[in-house]
Amino acid sequence: MEIKTIQEWEKEFAKKKGLPPKDKSDADEALKIGFLKLSEEVGELAEKILRKQYDEMQEEVADIIIFACKIGKIAEDYFNQPSTSKIIKKKIEYAEEREYDKKTLDFDKPKGSFKEWNNT
Ligand SMILES: [Mg+2]
Repeated sequence: MEIKTIQEWEKEFAKKKGLPPKDKSDADEALKIGFLKLSEEVGELAEKILRKQYDEMQEEVADIIIFACKIGKIAEDYFNQPSTSKIIKKKIEYAEEREYDKKTLDFDKPKGSFKEWNNT
């Protein structure tokens, strides 16, 4: 399933249910609600992992992806940001260029941050 498909479904679903954003005036509020819901879903996944309820993990992963897609779509539609799909593709390209340092247990940052790398 494509990111764009999830985003379009969620936008129609929210519209059908009368959820924000209805227009730009409540887009900021919708972002905050979406972020809080995303955080709630991350907590639900944490609970499943801690309780070793592996058979219920994937439904929480799905909830996280849906709310993350919603936030990305609001950013696209109301705050003139590039598409989530495009940024994921760029993030993958960036990750492929990064080298893992076993001493620091972290990846390097070629050409600085992702934003700096993406602008070159
Ligand atoms: Mg959930």
